[in-house]
Amino acid sequence: MTEDTVLPQIYLDANATTPVLEQAANAALITMKTMFGNPSSSHITGLQAKQLMEQTRQKARAVLGSGNGRVIFTSGATEGIQTGILSALCEAKKQIEPHKQYTLLYGATEHKAVPESLKHWNHILEINAEVKAIPVDNAGNLDFDFIAREVPNALMICTMAVNNETGVYQDLNALESVIRTHNADVFWMVDCVQALGKRNLNLARTTIDYAPFSGHKLYAPKGIGFVYIRNNAPFTPFIAGGGQESGLRSGTENLPGLAALDIIFDELLKEDGSQFVSVDKLHDYRNQLAQALTRAFPTIVFNNQFSNSVPTTLNFAIPGFSSKEIMDLFDAANIRVSSGSACSSKVTRSFVLDAMGLPAWQSESAIRMSYGPATTQTEIDAACERIQHCAQALGHSCLMQAHHDIDNKEALDGLVQFKVGGACCWLFADKQAKTAIIIDPLPELVERLNTILECQQLTLLAALDTHGHADHESSRVAFSLPKQACDHLGWPTQTTTMEYKGQQLACIPFGHYHLAKLPTPGHTEDSVSFILFEQQQDTPVIKYVFCGDLILMGALGRTNFPTSSSSAMFSSIQLLATLATPDTLLCPSHDYNNEFATTLSAESSRNGTLKRILCDEISVTEFVEKKALIDQNIVDDAGSEIMCGATVCSKDQFSLHEYTASELAEHMQHNNNLLLIDIREPHEYALNHNRAFDQNVPLTRLTDFIGRHNQDKSTPLVLVCRSGSRSQVAAQALARLGFNNIGHLKGGYALIPSA
Ligand code: PLP
Repeated sequence: MTEDTVLPQIYLDANATTPVLEQAANAALITMKTMFGNPSSSHITGLQAKQLMEQTRQKARAVLGSGNGRVIFTSGATEGIQTGILSALCEAKKQIEPHKQYTLLYGATEHKAVPESLKHWNHILEINAEVKAIPVDNAGNLDFDFIAREVPNALMICTMAVNNETGVYQDLNALESVIRTHNADVFWMVDCVQALGKRNLNLARTTIDYAPFSGHKLYAPKGIGFVYIRNNAPFTPFIAGGGQESGLRSGTENLPGLAALDIIFDELLKEDGSQFVSVDKLHDYRNQLAQALTRAFPTIVFNNQFSNSVPTTLNFAIPGFSSKEIMDLFDAANIRVSSGSACSSKVTRSFVLDAMGLPAWQSESAIRMSYGPATTQTEIDAACERIQHCAQALGHSCLMQAHHDIDNKEALDGLVQFKVGGACCWLFADKQAKTAIIIDPLPELVERLNTILECQQLTLLAALDTHGHADHESSRVAFSLPKQACDHLGWPTQTTTMEYKGQQLACIPFGHYHLAKLPTPGHTEDSVSFILFEQQQDTPVIKYVFCGDLILMGALGRTNFPTSSSSAMFSSIQLLATLATPDTLLCPSHDYNNEFATTLSAESSRNGTLKRILCDEISVTEFVEKKALIDQNIVDDAGSEIMCGATVCSKDQFSLHEYTASELAEHMQHNNNLLLIDIREPHEYALNHNRAFDQNVPLTRLTDFIGRHNQDKSTPLVLVCRSGSRSQVAAQALARLGFNNIGHLKGGYALIPSA
């Protein structure tokens, strides 16, 4: 595969991990080759290794200002955190009085390693203290009043010097004064991982008992870290064994890692000529990036205040875009940033920003950009330029109001599917007539839809709802529409009519299309389906049916609302089946399983009840009884989403050909009619794509693609995206709808070496 444009990577995710500094990598390599001795061996090779280790320790002591405290090498900060917590809690356990309730305190924005370890050791050591989060304010500062109130009862307090998501630093002197005024003896651990090289630390001058550090956050390799332990602070080895590190931490030392760390400490200790730029320079970098971001995305909101955060972290949100969308955009431009949110739940949001009380959208859209002191001016200049390209790409695909020339953008033609959670909204654009209709407009999409309409210079003819939705208000009023009388679903009261298969249908003509209304009550009394006809040689042919919640993927719409009627649904399905063909594309209002659209034939092959209606094998009475039972299984999603249909069928898994990059390259050589499809969004495609790609079909346009290729489902297709997950989902959806020669590139662009 040949690359069209290969942009060099700009790595702005240093808070996750840094590259290894070249000299540090060289030092590690030389150590592996020549100084491979075991520091515990008493021969010369061992002694040399030991000397390197002690030299590194001396430098660490100088960097940390550790005084009489100890510095022990570990595998990383998570181990250092265990060491601190285990040591403190083993000692605390000896002092606890029966029947007294104690607490273990930690900052609400702490890295998960801290609260999880506190809970773990609290449980294992049977201390049973209450583990409490210390709240933070809007700016991420710890609540000192809370600490003053709670710390007298605490066995341990864990805080962080610098937050990894926001770069917010705590005023350690002020914090120490609150802690010690109210509890002189409490064990205090400060996670200093993100402070190394960015904040002055003079640990022995403080009463901090434990401070864990990690090498890979400051240009050393993964697998090496260190922990500071205050002189006379209690200590329990976390790893016992051969007695290395004076018995404090057993296990043969990671000498290559130590050699790399040694170089990093040299850089930190240099007064002149260090590869690490000054703090002033880091402030310049941040200002430059913030300006570039603001120029590119004028509505940007910064989630961290620059006045109390280190100059190497920016955390921001762009209204109207999820963090996933911005991540994908930047990744396509080969800028690596982080979404700043834990993707463990359905809604991706940042617990750090939530703890700071920022609005939900800021937390859901958070992006973190971080770099380290070895970042160069050239990299920052290139990043600023590339950020501008990202904004231009969004402008080209009409996702952002362009404040620059976007004359050569492509005109939108056909169907676009938008999703918010499980709910769908459909936009159909007629390129020739420059008109559009919207079905089931969702409030969250108003801005995006209006931007597209304006950017594409499309006149909106109608914004319609398929029924009065239980889960959201119609946002029809937010669009500029022709002034005409409409019913409560937005359908004009004065329309023309057309006849189709014996049915008189009210319809709106536009270009060479007609949109007809078919009442399909059942889910609700007012439910309708909208049928889009295309005029083909004077004959109307159905292109799409927007069927609301009549038939959903894997389900029928629920019929247990006060205005529902399952017997009406039965007749509606029968009526629809007389008009649509088994392969007509049905575009419902919900898509809970990422299946995009469906057909009567695809649904009846897995939904026995539907099949029996279509084959006249079930009576209304039996259907009503059966449907009542099915509806009993509907479980609304933790109160956040009203499920509009009970999924009665498991999601089918179709066999796909999963290609590796080399298999695909070979397959392409032998198969001329193979169609390669880049499934990423148009702005991602525009920023960087492979010349071999015949087409760009983003997920939002997948149903349109299916509609255009409904007659030709055997062309070999291979789908590709960034990581292989979108292409897999899309390939499954195509296979389900009868595309029988489909594959995708496993691992996506990420695993093509040159991408
Ligand atoms: N603490 C903070 C603030 C961090 O950012 C990290 C790493 O993400 C850790 C602890 C864990 O460090 P390690 O990867 O060295 O175990």
